[in-house]
Amino acid sequence: MARKTLVLAETRDGQLRHVSFEAIAAGRQIADGGEVVAVLCGDDVAGFADALGHYGADRVVVVENEALKYYTPDGYKQAWQRVIETEAPEAIVMGHTAVGKDLSAGLAARLDSALVSDVTAIETGNGDPLFIRPIYSGKAFEKKRVKEGLIFITIRPNNIPALEKDETRPTTVDRLDVPISGLRTVVKQVVKKSTGGVDLTEAKVIVSGGRGVKSADGFKPLKELADVLGGAVGASRGACDAGYCDYSLQIGQTGKVVTPDLYIACGISGAIQHLAGMSNSKVIVAINKDPDANIFNVADYGIVGDLFEIVPLLTKYFKEVLQEA
Ligand SMILES: Cc1cc2nc3c(=O)[nH]c(=O)nc-3n(C[C@H](O)[C@H](O)[C@H](O)COP(=O)(O)OP(=O)(O)OC[C@H]3O[C@@H](n4cnc5c(N)ncnc54)[C@H](O)[C@@H]3O)c2cc1C
Repeated sequence: MARKTLVLAETRDGQLRHVSFEAIAAGRQIADGGEVVAVLCGDDVAGFADALGHYGADRVVVVENEALKYYTPDGYKQAWQRVIETEAPEAIVMGHTAVGKDLSAGLAARLDSALVSDVTAIETGNGDPLFIRPIYSGKAFEKKRVKEGLIFITIRPNNIPALEKDETRPTTVDRLDVPISGLRTVVKQVVKKSTGGVDLTEAKVIVSGGRGVKSADGFKPLKELADVLGGAVGASRGACDAGYCDYSLQIGQTGKVVTPDLYIACGISGAIQHLAGMSNSKVIVAINKDPDANIFNVADYGIVGDLFEIVPLLTKYFKEVLQEA
């Protein structure tokens, strides 16, 4: 059944987030031949519309308003509610990001609609789509089908591949004026911590350190390896609690959930709460002195040894190999 599907096009720091392209790909699966419309809200964002078309959006609806410069639940809900009234979609896809989680839940509650969150795969071809999502900290998966009404889903970044970019794909851009009023919160300024580099939740490669890294300085070789691989640095809560790094790097049950192509765990024991955040990574490499460390139970490749010897060797090796390539 063809379904008109709206997709949240999310921007951050003046760029489109990659999960927006993955959401378009998910939208295409759900739309089943129906129209896929990307919705771009913000202040001065129309310039991103073409890119959304290149990644598979049939049409882009742009809602520009100064009040939408930063995400606020009130402002974005007003904008989205107007878009939903105008477009009358059958499905809405958003990234399982801070914005997507908040906005989808708020709108679904307001519209009394179904919401399936944190979807990692979609099965189609046999009636209504089946949404697959991890449960019990990734130890099991459940499949959900929405029987009636508007479907909201959020997709976990890095799981549903974006379509190939095709700059010849035509896109139509529609502008929608939405007056935003009565905001209860106004974001005046966002002051970012200077973690820099690649966003953890969208990183293809993560080099993560645990208490075995032993100090803030101990993270330097991990950062060098991550830089060579074009990846991001993550951490266990053990490392964050010990003050070796910022909590914004924490991966796990009470930290970020990540699904990179490659996760290199250095000096991390593999507590269940850490595994909850990374065990769905495509390839896991563990470096640990203790051959009985639990992390080896989920690792595809294990290196028993001292991370301070192994990590610099890996950096040197990858530098050479990648320079030759
Ligand atoms: C409610 C709750 C929520 C939690 N949420 C999270 C969460 O979100 N994320 C998270 O990570 N944890 C979380 N935890 C904490 C979790 O239980 C563990 O305590 C924590 O993950 C341990 O961190 P670690 O592996 O870095 O440290 P440790 O368990 O101390 O492991 C350090 C490892 O480093 C190895 N090592 C030491 N030196 C070296 C070396 N030179 N070379 C190689 N290996 C070396 C050791 O063999 C050891 O395996 C949570 C706990 C609770 C109770």
